[in-house]
Amino acid sequence: MADTRRGLILINTGPGKGKTTAALGTALRAVGCGMKVLVLQFIKGSWHYGELDAAQTLGPNFVLKQMGRGFVKVGGAEADPEDIRLVQEAWSAAHTAIDSGEWDLVVLDEINYAISYGMLDPSEVAEALKAKPEMVHVILTGRNAHPLLVELADTVTEMREVKHAYQKGILAQRGIEY
Ligand code: ATP
Ligand code: MG
Repeated sequence: MADTRRGLILINTGPGKGKTTAALGTALRAVGCGMKVLVLQFIKGSWHYGELDAAQTLGPNFVLKQMGRGFVKVGGAEADPEDIRLVQEAWSAAHTAIDSGEWDLVVLDEINYAISYGMLDPSEVAEALKAKPEMVHVILTGRNAHPLLVELADTVTEMREVKHAYQKGILAQRGIEY
């Protein structure tokens, strides 16, 4: 019987909470299946995320790397050249990792932000994904997923905000938001 296993391209996008955490949930599931998982965070937040320490406890099959230097300025001013350089560097590492055959799942966390801020060319990402090794799964997260990538992806989920604690003035909670 033909092998029905194949690598998927997944996108978690939309304004509601859960894009990164759903990707990490999938990563946890994959590691549990004996797969090797690489999570690259394109634009890291200013907090120390719990997943950084959790990754350590999961051993060498789960590697998580923060590639940015904190929140990037949104809207208005042009992107800082240093942030653009870091995003390009993160993308280069991601592209190499996807093609290396070393990883079963590569998560590109917040890559959609980098693209929607104009720091990364969506067609360059699309071309790389089209040419990826057959068996590698790739998850892209972040709001405003580019239409080119949405078209290319196999599974796209849009998180819809019904409500968020933040609207009641409740600050980010350890273990839930970071
Ligand atoms: P999470 O990492 O919790 O899965 P996310 O990846 O969907 O969230 P991002 O856009 O990456 O969302 O933003 C991350 C941070 O912003 C998290 O602390 C999250 O709780 C918060 N956040 C996400 N969505 C909203 C929202 N609709 N309103 C306010 N804060 C939000
Ligand atoms: Mg996120």
